[in-house]
Amino acid sequence: MDCIFCKIASKKINSAIVLETEKLMVIKDVNPQSPVHLLVIPKKHYSTILDCDDTMLMAEMFEAAKEAARLSGVEKSGFRTVVNTNEEGGQTVFHLHMHILGGRPLTGRMG
Ligand code: 5GP
Ligand code: ZN
Repeated sequence: MDCIFCKIASKKINSAIVLETEKLMVIKDVNPQSPVHLLVIPKKHYSTILDCDDTMLMAEMFEAAKEAARLSGVEKSGFRTVVNTNEEGGQTVFHLHMHILGGRPLTGRMG
């Protein structure tokens, strides 16, 4: 399958890795929307959160987001975790991922 995040997860394409576990990777977003903009990417392909029934993995994604926020120094100042789903949710890469945004005050608006 021609999936950019599968290629990143299997290290066929280089990315800036912040942390890695057996099941997932946290990388820097190539087009950051805030000083800290990371992506939690499961190594297994799920097109969207709707396709994922691995609740352990979902929990691990949140744990990884907490750890990556700590490592990036935004734990105290604050950060936002976002999972965009399908077209109106703003999803552009159809491999499940969670954004971690921080390092500046984020607008209270959600969209
Ligand atoms: P979405 O809009 O699907 O929620 O988010 C996709 C994100 O992936 C975007 O923020 C985009 O900048 C990021 N992205 C797309 N291609 C690459 C890539 O090749 N490497 C990295 N590190 N990020 C990417
Ligand atoms: Zn994929």
